[in-house]
Amino acid sequence: MENRIILLPGDGIGKEILEAAVKVLHVVEEKFNHRFVYETHAIGGNAIDRFGVPLTDETVNACKNADAVLLGAVGGPKWDNVPADIRPEKGLLKIRKELGLFANLRPIKAFASLLHASPLKEHIIKDSDILIVRELTSGIYFGKPSERRENGKVVVDTLYYERYEIERIVDKAFQFARMRKKKLTSVDKANVLESSRVWREIVNEKSSLYPDVEVEHLLVDAASMKLITNPSQFDVLVTENMFGDILSDEASVLTGSLGMLPSASIRSDQFGLYEPIHGSAPDIAGKGMANPIGMILSAALMLRFSFAMEEEASAIEAAVNETLSDGYHTADLQIENGTKLSTNEITEVITEKLLING
Ligand code: ATP
Ligand code: MG
Repeated sequence: MENRIILLPGDGIGKEILEAAVKVLHVVEEKFNHRFVYETHAIGGNAIDRFGVPLTDETVNACKNADAVLLGAVGGPKWDNVPADIRPEKGLLKIRKELGLFANLRPIKAFASLLHASPLKEHIIKDSDILIVRELTSGIYFGKPSERRENGKVVVDTLYYERYEIERIVDKAFQFARMRKKKLTSVDKANVLESSRVWREIVNEKSSLYPDVEVEHLLVDAASMKLITNPSQFDVLVTENMFGDILSDEASVLTGSLGMLPSASIRSDQFGLYEPIHGSAPDIAGKGMANPIGMILSAALMLRFSFAMEEEASAIEAAVNETLSDGYHTADLQIENGTKLSTNEITEVITEKLLING
């Protein structure tokens, strides 16, 4: 069976890191006898340059007809002055919406060899491994358009949720908790917000369907504190759009390696869009210095969630882990007595390990 993958390199280092991830996927095809079909499309600033918009209908349709999408990064100073409605980032928001990707997953996993760079290295638990499940299509970022009233003396943003939107993300989170340590933490602000009280009700209702999963509710302020003081108390964390945006950035810093973290945006079927959490890093674009690991691990998530290739995904993760343990790293990371490599060189080490292992 063929798996159809749309490649959206985007801007800045997006192209370099996506090339690296595709090299790794080629090794997976060879080693595990799969066939992936790739098709490349424009998104973000380069799409503005070519088509006048950050995302064309043609690209949207190509994604709709594929099994998964790999995305590099969008944006950069070149497009700072384009009109607000066609900014590069709008392409990203639009594609998530068009594809109905309502759940954003961020696995937060510390790499032992990089923990010295974590601000919490003294008390972080080495095996802390958290999955943040963030609602992606609603909440205060969507809903009614924001407005300024009375000559700007009043501003309004609306936090809007429909019940089914909360139900489907909570279901997803329970399902992931069930596959992991069977502990789900739901984060809200139920002491202040009505939407949070409904959120909490729905989590409690759903919990009867997953009696094997332990559930706890935390207010977002307490959760943001506990992520720092005791990160290993968490397994799966589920929350609404804006809280998830903030908490996932906070949690990613725990690993000491922002450039290494992958993310997945998924929906109820197998389809997903996978991208590293970092941006387009225009300051280092084209210099061969970019760390491709966040992108490579995003490709691993694609194999796991969209193609049900757990063994293949784990093999990539193991190869990355071994590369770091051997002291190989890119310029953004520091490893004592390590060896600094370029984007291509570290990709080569990872693909060699992947080929040899197992
Ligand atoms: P965005 O608004 O798109 O999220 P940002 O302003 O948050 O972008 P990034 O593009 O993520 O910024 O870059 C922040 C810093 O981290 C930059 O100095 C960049 O060079 C560096 N950086 C980000 N990703 C990588 C990477 N994969 N490899 C090396 N350095 C990176
Ligand atoms: Mg950023």
